[in-house]
Amino acid sequence: MERDIQIFDLIDQEYLRQKNGIELIASENFVSQQVMDAMGSCLTNKYAEGYPGKRYYGGCQIVDQTEQLAIDRACELFGAEYANVQPHSGAQANAAVFYACMQPGDTFLGLDLSHGGHLSHGSPVNLSGTLYNPVAYHVKEETGTVDYDELEQLALEHKPKMIVAGASAYSRDWDFVRLREIADKVGCLLMADIAHPAGLIAKGLLSNPVPYCHIVTTTTHKTLRGPRGGLILMGKDFENPWGQTTPKGEVKMMSQVLNFAVFPGQQGGPLEHVIAAKAVAFGEALTDSYKEYAVQMQKNAKVMAAEFMKLGYKVISGGTDNHSMLVDLRSKFPEISGKKVENVLVQADITINKNMVPFDTRSPFATSGLRVGTPAITTRGLKEEHMPIIVQMIDEVISNIESEEVIASVRERVNEMMCERPMFAW
Ligand code: PLP
Repeated sequence: MERDIQIFDLIDQEYLRQKNGIELIASENFVSQQVMDAMGSCLTNKYAEGYPGKRYYGGCQIVDQTEQLAIDRACELFGAEYANVQPHSGAQANAAVFYACMQPGDTFLGLDLSHGGHLSHGSPVNLSGTLYNPVAYHVKEETGTVDYDELEQLALEHKPKMIVAGASAYSRDWDFVRLREIADKVGCLLMADIAHPAGLIAKGLLSNPVPYCHIVTTTTHKTLRGPRGGLILMGKDFENPWGQTTPKGEVKMMSQVLNFAVFPGQQGGPLEHVIAAKAVAFGEALTDSYKEYAVQMQKNAKVMAAEFMKLGYKVISGGTDNHSMLVDLRSKFPEISGKKVENVLVQADITINKNMVPFDTRSPFATSGLRVGTPAITTRGLKEEHMPIIVQMIDEVISNIESEEVIASVRERVNEMMCERPMFAW
């Protein structure tokens, strides 16, 4: 078979785009070569419906071991008793938990999308918002932090089946103790989606929801620096609260209900090559060198947020606890949208994403904010001293948004800074 030059040429171009640019999308990262190798391995050829030791296909004796290693390492990393490593993505992990824990029409609480929540936490354009009945909680306008009093009041009023904590654009730690108190008060399940800060949580740099939440979901490809995928965790297994029983008449454990919701509930064959890559990434995340990386990622974010504020930008909540920040452009450039900045920065080889800020007056297509994150640039070896340089280049582009010369000059400096750096410096 002839090599597909058309596709591999495009992959080479994408490699250069990633290598020469500054990647500030908070949900992106660069995986190690061994994670990449596992993903590109012969495990992609294998069907393995079911779970280790209980498959619907023969020949699973090896993938049983890789999947079990992924499960064991995920449990060790987060202090969990249960892990399901099969969800193809974070949104599918969430959909599986919803499918396991709710009936169509049931009410749940999730953070409003325009206040930092994720699509899969109740947006009307996602099945979480059409199949179920979401009630949104918010952040406070003055502080930009979650309004736990409002959340409690909504929980008491709406008696949800579940409360969903977690966000896509929220830079502060979560109060899982308070959330569990609220969930217990109304007798509902508490789920945390830690897709963004998972790597920081794994290394003890942010509060771990696993001891407090009934169920935790995450992606594996953001701060955790693994292949694209999802993961479901439980600190402790427990009997399902609805009294579902096994064919033998025993009450099903929640682990059984969740496993069933993933397969056969909503997925077919697991992606065993991706699961092996998850195992490799979890193994890496268990090391001291990953801890150093996580500490650096958090330090870089703090310095970057401070630098934005120094230059007159409002950072929502006044800073960050994690790897990301939300910059409100209205404080310095009220006439320029997030969309415009995103598009112009791409020309300077700096990638960020536009994002709504809480109480935004622009639409989700235009937005007044930028979401900026440090996972990827930290993997490439950038440290505190590089952060002011990056923020100043961003400010230079925004301040001269129509100037082709300024964009070209910044692009040159960006390429010079990045082109010799390894993709994976840890
Ligand atoms: N949950 C949160 C909080 C996220 O930020 C994201 C992705 O950005 C997801 C879930 C969805 O993950 P995926 O894109 O893998 O479906």
